[in-house]
Amino acid sequence: MNSSSVTSQTPANKNKESHMKVHNFSAGPGILPQEVLQQASEACINFDNLHLSLLEISHRSKNFENVMEEAMALTKELLMLDDNYKVMFLGGGASLQFGMVPTNLLRTDGTAGYVNTGVWAGKAIKEAKIIGNTKVLASSEDHNFNFIPKGFAVPKDLDYLHITSNNTIFGTQMKKWPVTPVPIVCDMSSDIFSRKVDGKQFGLIYAGAQKNMGAAGSTMVAVREDLLGKTGRTMLSMLDYRVHIKGGSMYNTPPVFPIYVSLLTLRWLKKNGGVEWIEKINQAKAQAIYSEIDRNSLFKGTCEKEDRSNMNVCFVMNKPELEPEFDKMWKEANISGIRGHRDVGGYRASLYNALPLESVQVLVNVMQAFEKSKG
Ligand SMILES: *Cc1c(COP(=O)(O)O)cnc(C)c1O
Repeated sequence: MNSSSVTSQTPANKNKESHMKVHNFSAGPGILPQEVLQQASEACINFDNLHLSLLEISHRSKNFENVMEEAMALTKELLMLDDNYKVMFLGGGASLQFGMVPTNLLRTDGTAGYVNTGVWAGKAIKEAKIIGNTKVLASSEDHNFNFIPKGFAVPKDLDYLHITSNNTIFGTQMKKWPVTPVPIVCDMSSDIFSRKVDGKQFGLIYAGAQKNMGAAGSTMVAVREDLLGKTGRTMLSMLDYRVHIKGGSMYNTPPVFPIYVSLLTLRWLKKNGGVEWIEKINQAKAQAIYSEIDRNSLFKGTCEKEDRSNMNVCFVMNKPELEPEFDKMWKEANISGIRGHRDVGGYRASLYNALPLESVQVLVNVMQAFEKSKG
């Protein structure tokens, strides 16, 4: 029910099932719950029974204000945040946050610490260096980012420590947060709401919506308000968190549709039992595929076991020349989106919240059938 489905309407498909189930392992934009897609499409035609589309009404209408308020409240609730935190939904993707974070939190005479765990962390570092003093405290770059650095020292005079909770491209995930005397800023783009997290451990959390939260176009930022206004820097209004907080994320026209899709996804999550509920399912999905990767003689994982991501599962074939045959098999099983990122090669199965365990079982079955066929 939660998998993507497409309706086959061409005459050639007439005799086939009218509703074909596709097992969508896309890394991003990623799979969304079927009921969310349904509700979002309805809102494009007739939103809140206004007989107007969500896309053609004022963002300052009461109806959309309610959307914004509820999306912010659910975000706070599911991240266990208190009233010291302000939530924003901004444009520009997680990539704009790479620059907005240091602009708002890095004092002109201060230093920020970064942990380099992959391509996205690297881009965050690149932007921070443009804004001010930036120190990389730990890195797994010389091992092609196949593990999470741990036990590094964090100087206590840093303005903040920036980490990436889940490395979408390399398939590693932080299972424990670094112990630090300074506020932690976390890019949670690819595992937000996938597990229980006490957001109060962080000074700032940001996440592009399109991996696990909604549709591309909005980025959630939650910040502890007392950290703001201390940099001694003048900044563009659009880059100033305080401006967006004051305007309730409506300083300018917000990305209304992606925010609505995030709201629908958060409602779906809460209704079904929240992050505790999805965390168990996500663990079961990850367990199912990693144990097959470890058992199957034709495949191997690319990351240190203790740092393996429950969201993005990266694996390669022992004999890469067999890839075309395997590719044919999974395509025939209506599996989509498991080709690996070009930096890692092989395969990457993304197990975002809306992907049902059943889809993972289909992939595991294909891996087993493939091994048998090679006898
Ligand atoms: C996808 C991703 C990004 C980039 O997100 P955009 O919204 O495309 O800018 C940043 N960080 C992580 C961890 C990601 O997975």
